[in-house]
Amino acid sequence: MNNDFTDSQLQQLIKKLSVEKNIILELEKEINSYRSGRLHHEYESTSDTYEDEDIDIKREGYYLDKITEINNVLEKISKKTYGICIDCGKNIGFARLNAYPVAQRCIDCKSVFEKINQSHI
Ligand SMILES: [Zn+2]
Repeated sequence: MNNDFTDSQLQQLIKKLSVEKNIILELEKEINSYRSGRLHHEYESTSDTYEDEDIDIKREGYYLDKITEINNVLEKISKKTYGICIDCGKNIGFARLNAYPVAQRCIDCKSVFEKINQSHI
């Protein structure tokens, strides 16, 4: 079963995902070069850079999550299961995916999912 996108709609979504992926890869590269630059620096001063390090790790985790998310979606596209709600199996709809290409749930299931999650907090 596949979502009933037209080819041009699907191409549009793939393009969005690729652009987003490239941006994240660039940001990741920046962090890596910043970090390797600092490694040499640390021989000279063992100052208080721990806070920066924490932020870097959090940010890197966020990028990794995003990349994984996008890769999962690209895999779904190649398996032709993209745009199907993981909870109810209905089509998510192009308008929603166009606004949020990595959406995994339709709007109905998303609001249910968020309510359940909130009630646990
Ligand atoms: Zn659903």
